[in-house]
Amino acid sequence: MTAPASLGLSRPELLRSGGYIDGRWVRGDATLAVRNPADGTLVGEVANLGGPSAESAVAAASAAFRPWSARPAKERARILRLWSELMLANTEDLARILTAEQGKPLAEARGEVAYAAGFLEWFAEEARRVRGEVLTPHLPDKRLSVLRQPVGVVAAVTPWNFPLAMITRKAGPALAAGCTMVLKPSELTPLSAVALAKLGEEAGLPPGVFNVVAGDAPPIGAVLTSDPRVAKFTFTGSTAVGKKLAAECMSTVKRVSLELGGNAPFIIFDDADVDAAVEGIIASKFRNTGQTCVCANRLLVQDGIYDRLAERLAQRVATLVVGSGLDGPTDQGPLIDARAVAKAQSHVDDAVAGGGRVTTGGAPLDRPGTFFAPTVIVDVAPDALICREETFGPVAGLVRFATEQDAIRLANDTRAGLAAYLYTRDIDRSVRVTEALEYGMVGHNTGAISTEVAPFGGIKESGMGREGSHLGMDDYLQYKMICAQVSTAA
Ligand code: NAD
Repeated sequence: MTAPASLGLSRPELLRSGGYIDGRWVRGDATLAVRNPADGTLVGEVANLGGPSAESAVAAASAAFRPWSARPAKERARILRLWSELMLANTEDLARILTAEQGKPLAEARGEVAYAAGFLEWFAEEARRVRGEVLTPHLPDKRLSVLRQPVGVVAAVTPWNFPLAMITRKAGPALAAGCTMVLKPSELTPLSAVALAKLGEEAGLPPGVFNVVAGDAPPIGAVLTSDPRVAKFTFTGSTAVGKKLAAECMSTVKRVSLELGGNAPFIIFDDADVDAAVEGIIASKFRNTGQTCVCANRLLVQDGIYDRLAERLAQRVATLVVGSGLDGPTDQGPLIDARAVAKAQSHVDDAVAGGGRVTTGGAPLDRPGTFFAPTVIVDVAPDALICREETFGPVAGLVRFATEQDAIRLANDTRAGLAAYLYTRDIDRSVRVTEALEYGMVGHNTGAISTEVAPFGGIKESGMGREGSHLGMDDYLQYKMICAQVSTAA
């Protein structure tokens, strides 16, 4: 293992180099180097596993399915709860590993550990509440009931922007329902995933119930989307990759859940509290360096408040401290890689070419690592790239609008439908606009909406299915109707 000492972990064994298959730590012929986006240094290496390892993991998950699903729900719940407690007990180490490979400030990483542990804890409770139905029969000699049973082996593919939470949001409900899982984490952030597996092992997950296969995506993905033993495929990531993998799943008619990209409008009406709106933008747009699927992508600002909001926002954004997430009081870490920096720059350049004016930031920082200055651009045209595509960077573009109808039209003018936000003190308007927004989630006077307690997910091309809340179990359960013939003669 390379350089664990530099992370200052109290349990260095959480920084692992193996994949985790059938309760064993496995090595491959090659390794995947994981680098810190803040300075390019090597954080660690994990086994770069391929298609044959993915097949072994599917076989292990398949063999583990019947015994795991046959366990009483309260036993599965006990293990999930312990897993959650171990995450919390190891918050500092998990947060340091996460920050080192992903870049977010340590304070945000600690928050993600708590958020991620919350999914395991929540679904440990939900495991006890899976109920079927008894139906009123349609004929005197029939009896009808409906069982809800776990779907079987689940394959999960997750992104790098929330290296822990995007995993537990799937593993929590899947394992609670009685399914087993093969996880392919992002090749950019596999160290958090294997640390999580280590804690799952310590919590008592039986071999084969939770498997992690890190490595190059295409060969692993090909197995997970085509192996008939995989009953369900759950994906969080970009819309383009999600569509492709979902289509591949249809050759074996897998159940599919997709959590894809967003293009969130953040609407600020004239009557909004300016300071609250600015803090909402900071929370929604600049958290995780703007690399959040629900982050504000387009700031739609009404005429009467536009100038005041633009000025306050630029002042506030200029105070954000940018630096390595592992050092000191950092508000904003690096972007994940050089490609992300180039994308942010192209969105700034396009906005400026279309008449926009940069009031703060606007360029990469001249220092090692992949940093981009927190940026505000005013007078952005509604058809600018920054409004049409997910920027996934710390760039806030302000678009002006006049009427409520204009705001709704601009907000819905996208194929994405994940999250939207509105700031107003007018309750009637808030109800009207919320009902008209074509989105899976709406924040009212808040820029922070995610919780394990509520259903998270999008409509249109932002995905299908919901994660979190009691609805989050549905995707991992299937229905079985039982129709029994009963003699009515005594
Ligand atoms: P990505 O689509 O590039 O990668 C996501 C995962 O898919 C990674 O594990 C990657 O290795 C894998 N992958 C890529 N090609 C593959 C292939 N051919 N076969 C198998 N796996 C493959 O996305 P990303 O850059 O990691 O994440 C950012 C995107 O995720 C953004 O669009 C963001 O909006 C979205 N996201 C959505 C949600 C949500 O809940 N809706 C949450 C977080 C992130």
